[in-house]
Amino acid sequence: MTYRQTHTVFNQPIPLNNSNLFLSDGALRDAVAREGAGWDVELLASIGQQLGAAESLELGRLANTHPPELLRYDPGGRRLDDVRFHPAWHLLMQGLCANRVHNLPWQEAARKGAFVARAARFVLHAQVEAGTLCPITMTFAATPLLSASMPAPFSAWLKPLHSDRYDAHLQPGERKRGLLIGMGMTEKQGGSDVLSNTTHAMPLAQRGPGEPYRLVGHKWFFSVPQSDAHLILAQTKGGIGCFFLPRFLPDGVRNAVRLERLKDKPGNRANASAEAEFDGAIGWLIGEEGEGMRQILKMGSMTRFDCALGSHGLMRRALSVALYHVHQRQAFGKHLIDQPLMRQQIGRMALWMEGQTAFLFRLARAWDSRDSEHERAYLRVFTPAAKFTVCRAGIDFAAECMEALGGNGYCEESELARIYREMPVNSIWEGAGNIMCLDVLRALAKHPGIVDMLNAEFDEVRGQNRHFDRAWRQLQQRLRTPRESQGRVITRQLAQLASAAQLLRYASPPLAAEWCRMVLDPRGEAMLAERTLDDVLLRATGAVAVQT
Ligand SMILES: Cc1cc2nc3c(=O)[nH]c(=O)nc-3n(C[C@H](O)[C@H](O)[C@H](O)COP(=O)(O)OP(=O)(O)OC[C@H]3O[C@@H](n4cnc5c(N)ncnc54)[C@H](O)[C@@H]3O)c2cc1C
Repeated sequence: MTYRQTHTVFNQPIPLNNSNLFLSDGALRDAVAREGAGWDVELLASIGQQLGAAESLELGRLANTHPPELLRYDPGGRRLDDVRFHPAWHLLMQGLCANRVHNLPWQEAARKGAFVARAARFVLHAQVEAGTLCPITMTFAATPLLSASMPAPFSAWLKPLHSDRYDAHLQPGERKRGLLIGMGMTEKQGGSDVLSNTTHAMPLAQRGPGEPYRLVGHKWFFSVPQSDAHLILAQTKGGIGCFFLPRFLPDGVRNAVRLERLKDKPGNRANASAEAEFDGAIGWLIGEEGEGMRQILKMGSMTRFDCALGSHGLMRRALSVALYHVHQRQAFGKHLIDQPLMRQQIGRMALWMEGQTAFLFRLARAWDSRDSEHERAYLRVFTPAAKFTVCRAGIDFAAECMEALGGNGYCEESELARIYREMPVNSIWEGAGNIMCLDVLRALAKHPGIVDMLNAEFDEVRGQNRHFDRAWRQLQQRLRTPRESQGRVITRQLAQLASAAQLLRYASPPLAAEWCRMVLDPRGEAMLAERTLDDVLLRATGAVAVQT
């Protein structure tokens, strides 16, 4: 039989699998240096090199194509309530902990700029695998609360909680080298409205802070069920309380936390999200009865910031992959990047990322400087605004990048399919979109100093750009009598102005002016000037240049 070759493969781009995720991102590099973490750039470059390598990207793929498995019973029929993960998951978790994404700002003598450095590390890891960020962000957010109020029987857990080790063993916390902490608020009847929680807690003996209570009830979403402990909400006589719910009790016996099912999710597949029942489990009260919401909200604002950072990282990866593709793929006799319509589209996305990066890292600096009243006001309003705008923008952005790859983008072999499926969850969990907008309105109405902070931030750059000035005037009018039904418009406009203000302060004047024209000009759809396109594509296509 003679062998016949049906065709020769050509014009199929090679995938982006050996780039430096930090050095290739001009906007990120500038933001890290500007916002106070210049001291971390060498390490970030090394993390970026390692994460951008084919081996790391493969771990991300494997962790998602082999999702966790619920082990309710052992072979002898004894309850296990455990989860089995692919080894790739554990390697990714080890990397996150070694890079201190779960605790960098909480380390003793944390340097100024630690939040900014940690935000950059988070964004780099997000580009490889996003499911692992869930345990990391919850542990990160819970650590300050537990450091201050760990119930006495668990004082020996503080050392592993603060370590840079990942330890997946099913053992009591004091015997482990590293811990994970989860959070459980959402029940079947309500997730946004957690005051509707029906799980109830009865004191074993005394009531009050640090005392053990017996818990009966359930959680409808209970992510990272393999955590060493969860912070959960339950009803007490004095109102909703926050409880420390360990996996093992002080006598070494497993707590009565039953895992019923794992959720079957379109994305976030590497991460386990369980349904759990508390069959007389024991939890220790953190703070007073009735203070549960206050305790949880303290952590909520950190996890919400991480949702925005996570979506940002996914957007950056989607853009890098799309950029790499359009520089190689030809259609109608030209590389796609040289087709005017594609060049505009990709250029607009790269320009959008300039503003978003500037905004998010300004917000990270506010976290670093939260001893200042001005920065606390900035955090209060712009954290929910960032979560809403970035996480929502990510959904369309991923679809657009996917389309730049044509049919290949829609296939599972491309990273875009996974990124696209991952994107919506950041907008839903930790407070869905409308809840974020209502939170922004609440902050505007109640937090002292917000109006002064906004005036100071935006008046400083007034007069440089007419689109900015007009949008700021319009927002000021809306803020005189903010209406709940306008929550999304107001939130979006706040985030846009915050991005624009940072660009007007620090970016090259043409780039800042083009960003304002693209986003704030009500006539919309203004074409980017060729010079800006060249500049912005060069800053964003480091990925192409740095592919090794
Ligand atoms: C993969 C995954 C993992 C999760 N893991 C956890 C976890 O570990 N721990 C945990 O506690 N929760 C977890 N959640 C739950 C998540 O936080 C909730 O789903 C979310 O807070 C929304 O709550 P809900 O599903 O009850 O929706 P609802 O509260 O019913 O809200 C539905 C919609 O109505 C909107 N809405 C609600 N109130 C208003 C209002 N007043 N005005 C206008 N719109 C409103 C919301 O914005 C939302 O869009 C997880 C969710 C997912 C998808």
